[in-house]
Amino acid sequence: MHELSICSSIAAIVTEHAAGRPVERVVLDVGYLRQVVPATLMYSWELIVAGTPLERAALVVNHIPAVIECRSCGTATTIELPVFRCPCGSIDTEVTAGEELLVRSLDITDITDITGRAQTSEAGT
Ligand SMILES: [Zn+2]
Repeated sequence: MHELSICSSIAAIVTEHAAGRPVERVVLDVGYLRQVVPATLMYSWELIVAGTPLERAALVVNHIPAVIECRSCGTATTIELPVFRCPCGSIDTEVTAGEELLVRSLDITDITDITGRAQTSEAGT
């Protein structure tokens, strides 16, 4: 099942970034064109995280509408169905949104040492 493998990759990404800290919330961007069924995604998430350190992490899905941009007239259109035609009649369009599938953010309970750490250069040159 599509959603199950998505959830298992999300869990792997989150586990890596959390590095042992408790995660309260995972915000996921899911593009319309991914054809993910929200209810199935939630159910799969529960299955995947059950009995793991992510058990209490809530999955929040941010749905991204599909947007196409017309190469003839430049119009950007949000589409409801996968029909990639511009209102001007042109089908020479480019999908500019809707294919997202990424972990947008994590809410971690103890956030004290994740900010700045990776980028500090206090050791000098
Ligand atoms: Zn057009």
